[in-house]
Amino acid sequence: MPLTPDCCGGVGQDTSRESAPCPLCRKKGRHVENTTVRHLLRKEMEEKAGQEDYYLCMDEKCDIAYYNDRTGTTFRKKDIIVPLWFKEDADPRYACYCSRITQEEVIRAVREQKITDMNAIRKYYDPEAASQCKIKNPAGRCCSPVFGETIKKAKGFKEH
Ligand SMILES: [Zn+2]
Repeated sequence: MPLTPDCCGGVGQDTSRESAPCPLCRKKGRHVENTTVRHLLRKEMEEKAGQEDYYLCMDEKCDIAYYNDRTGTTFRKKDIIVPLWFKEDADPRYACYCSRITQEEVIRAVREQKITDMNAIRKYYDPEAASQCKIKNPAGRCCSPVFGETIKKAKGFKEH
């Protein structure tokens, strides 16, 4: 398999510290840097973000997107500009936030165009594709894991 390479220049690894529980669902979130959060907040919310890092609530039913346990600042799903792919009502559900490729589009590329390589799919929809996961992906990480899962899922469907 060719590159998955520098898609995001090394922010793929988990840099998280201790996580705090989400104030709403009480589940532990994922550490996300302030830069990422700021890029994804609605304009009018930016000021509220301060300089602190946040946690991303990964619970699919919870309405909280980001929270900071120390400042008590929370942002709801409606406060950010993209749907979170893992929330139950995400629409559209992106596989790649950098190129804004939805999971549906990935599935279509696999089934109809027979393209099963992540980078080829990215190029198919977005020839100019540039990876900016750090500021485009809500987790501040590479889109590849979700993208890969979607391809796998699409291949599975083909059997029917
Ligand atoms: Zn939550």
